[in-house]
Amino acid sequence: MKISKLVLFRNWQYALIGAIALTVVIWSAVKVPGLALSAKFTPASPRLGETLVVNITATAGKTTPPTVKMGNKTYPAFAVGGGFRVMIPTTPLEKPGDREITITDNSDTTKLKISVADRKFQTQRINFSGGKSGNDATEMELKQVAAFKATVSPEKLWNGKFIAPNQGRTISPFGVRRYYNGELAMDYYHRGLDYAGGYGSAVVAPAAGRVVLVGYEKNGFRVHGNVVGLDHGQGLVSIFMHMSKIAVEEGEMLDPGDRIGAIGTTGASTGPHLHWGLYVNGVSVDPVQWRSNSID
Ligand SMILES: [Zn+2]
Repeated sequence: MKISKLVLFRNWQYALIGAIALTVVIWSAVKVPGLALSAKFTPASPRLGETLVVNITATAGKTTPPTVKMGNKTYPAFAVGGGFRVMIPTTPLEKPGDREITITDNSDTTKLKISVADRKFQTQRINFSGGKSGNDATEMELKQVAAFKATVSPEKLWNGKFIAPNQGRTISPFGVRRYYNGELAMDYYHRGLDYAGGYGSAVVAPAAGRVVLVGYEKNGFRVHGNVVGLDHGQGLVSIFMHMSKIAVEEGEMLDPGDRIGAIGTTGASTGPHLHWGLYVNGVSVDPVQWRSNSID
């Protein structure tokens, strides 16, 4: 009788010790994970010219964004759905291959690798003799456009897939490289997508945004022509060039499909077309990816 009571007591004691130990194990798994952050890349296999989106899952309640670097460049992180999102542009001028992305959160540093695949871009051969044609950008124009492309505002205004800014067919794709007199222009790639809607056909907002640039050829926009810049938020901006007419003013908020202006051939243009350029953190990326995928 005495012995069995003792055994029962001991069993109960072991059970209690076991329960406490298990609680400690579970608590430490939740509270002290091996990695403070985890990240997901979209697309999983990006190609040159595409926007690489990094979604970072943060520990609950975290409001300070981590610092995200690729090479020696830091990219802004914005809060989305309990974590953070960073958009990294890639261009046809880069070499394909592995990239290292460093995410620093307080004292924790996580290094991640992503491989950027090669891609064929169209080429154009331009032969000329003698001097360049005299249609140089004005200093004012360059300054205003550069400032516009560097816009990073905190609020995300776009939502889902982008729509076509013009009903015409596309004539010149993103990323075309040029050979001048047989020599590859190292810094050149077609920084946008050209639409061949007829003269005067509507140019509309491909996504919601705020009008932050309006420039007229008659006021010195000699290369861009009549131009509008839309800020979609969080480092994503659109530029629309060579228009015949502009239908918006600076500061206006546009919904997708709202009229911006009409196709024309103002500025450095050889015929009526719309040039739509999409920039991520100041770098021109392929708009087609944004037309076919919803990047939210
Ligand atoms: Zn173009």
